[in-house]
Amino acid sequence: MKYVFLAVCTLTASSLFAQERNGDPKLTESWKPVPPVVNTQAAVPGDAIILFDGKNMNGWKHKDGSAVKWDVKDGILTVKGGTGEIISQQSFGDCQLHIEWRTPATVKGEGQGRGNSGIFLMSTYELQVLDSYNNTTYSNGQAGSIYKQTPPLVNASKGPGEWQTYDIIFTAPRFNDQGMLKSPATITVLHNGVLVQNNTTIWGSTQYIGLPDNIKHADKLPLILQDHGDPVSFRNIWIRNL
Ligand code: MG
Repeated sequence: MKYVFLAVCTLTASSLFAQERNGDPKLTESWKPVPPVVNTQAAVPGDAIILFDGKNMNGWKHKDGSAVKWDVKDGILTVKGGTGEIISQQSFGDCQLHIEWRTPATVKGEGQGRGNSGIFLMSTYELQVLDSYNNTTYSNGQAGSIYKQTPPLVNASKGPGEWQTYDIIFTAPRFNDQGMLKSPATITVLHNGVLVQNNTTIWGSTQYIGLPDNIKHADKLPLILQDHGDPVSFRNIWIRNL
């Protein structure tokens, strides 16, 4: 009896379903706006801003405005420890960022002292760069972490001396006129093509000691690449404003 009842219900539901699907299919078509065409024939999307193509450091400077002192050789940019972080000439808010990085092939140090650098979105929020291949450290400080906040979902690290990729989708925080946080920043990160941050909320500015701050800042700010003393290399850096 139960099965007969179920069968009747199913038939009734499916005929209702069919009735609802009668009518004009055009009513649910949306033709505007037309998404802009992006050329994807080349390695870099046609609408991307190239921040480092291996040839020059025009897109970057040190904080004091001086020319970049890091090494550029054979299309590769390498941190020169002690010269300080570098910042992009242009400022960015919501963005898609692609960056390739490599920790030194010769393993030196351990924990946070092995192949440490970092990408500071809006000069404020660090996505950690670290040699996290067989290298134990605190989880929210390993490669792919939002430093001192959120560990990566998995450890997708390649070995020392191997090129690795980050593909990042970042949404900037919003503040109201009074300087209060309306919505925090969020970030999605693919590390070597593997999802490690899935629309993760960023709780505020990266702090080495203590909790994050949420102090109102501009809608767009430069990127920073960290000098943590280790000769970490970078190549093929491009960004798309969103
Ligand atoms: Mg770092």
